[in-house]
Amino acid sequence: MNWRDYVRPVEPYTPGEQPKDADVIKLNTNENPYGPSARVQSCVQDFDLLRKYPDPAATDLVDALAEFHGVDPAQVFVGVGSDDVLGMAFLTFFNSDRPVLFPDITYSFYPVWAELYKIPFKTKPLTEDFRILPEDYSEENGGVIFPNPNAPTARLLELSVVEEIVQANRDSVVIVDEAYIDFAPEGSSALSLVDRYDNLLVVRTFSKSRSMAGLRIGYAIGQKELIDAMQAVKYSYNSYTMNRPSILYGCASVADDDYFRKTISMIIATRERFAKALEEMDFTVIPSAANFVFASHRTIPAREIFEKAKEKKIFFRYFNLPRIDNFLRITIGTDAEMDTVIKFLSDLT
Ligand code: PMP
Repeated sequence: MNWRDYVRPVEPYTPGEQPKDADVIKLNTNENPYGPSARVQSCVQDFDLLRKYPDPAATDLVDALAEFHGVDPAQVFVGVGSDDVLGMAFLTFFNSDRPVLFPDITYSFYPVWAELYKIPFKTKPLTEDFRILPEDYSEENGGVIFPNPNAPTARLLELSVVEEIVQANRDSVVIVDEAYIDFAPEGSSALSLVDRYDNLLVVRTFSKSRSMAGLRIGYAIGQKELIDAMQAVKYSYNSYTMNRPSILYGCASVADDDYFRKTISMIIATRERFAKALEEMDFTVIPSAANFVFASHRTIPAREIFEKAKEKKIFFRYFNLPRIDNFLRITIGTDAEMDTVIKFLSDLT
């Protein structure tokens, strides 16, 4: 026996490629093409900021988010991107011997955290057209998690169905990962259910709708008891997860609601136009409530399109996985970028 026998065996999550080349049309990791609010830029210079430790409770950011969402600050947990928040939630809430349930086609980090923390899990197949069936989540379980809209399918689950799942699981924690919810129709978020269900945790991110993927800010909202449990785990691991620039720039972003709404509606308008163009080129497009579309061409294999696009410096996301290996996930960029993509695809089809 030596130390190698005791290294934690893990198969890590594979993030989308981050090309070094600056002149690519990068539509593979669901970033936002418009950049953060100018208010964020105007508070970037304060060097002294870096000298001192941050506020471990990230109070300013927690307060800003609580006010933005109309909840109590005790209902908000912040972390280093929603990956950190989700990882912390797995560690905090999924500790029973019963399996955690999530869809077979979903955010591929869920099984990785489950393996890392040795949490049993079971996947539930989406329907042929990638819908979540609520009845799949009513068997005994150690927790439930799904993104809404789902990733990489972009499909939205109606709020009434989300509630049905939360309602059916009063004895376990249901996590709704709302990374893309700001691109969905108003009234789709499970945040409106939080006050009624002590088993519901809603997770959000600044990476997509707030265009701050590089900074790493995510948060969760739930009843105080859930948030307290997550804080206890966080303070048992690393008190200072939120660095000072993140707290400052995060507050500046939340303060600029006009810019936030404007860029979201631009992305939604581009998405609708792009989805229509894809359909006209013989693609099947799953109805999208996110800042990306999930599409499959009726005759040309997805992998072939993915590779040809890459030769032209257009990056899409391709998953070589059962059931979705003939689909492409395409992030919505600027109108000009999407026009280039449409031209490329129409030359191909
Ligand atoms: N949830 C889903 C469904 C995602 O697609 C992503 C993006 N990879 C995340 C969470 C994590 O995003 P971030 O850590 O940047 O907040």
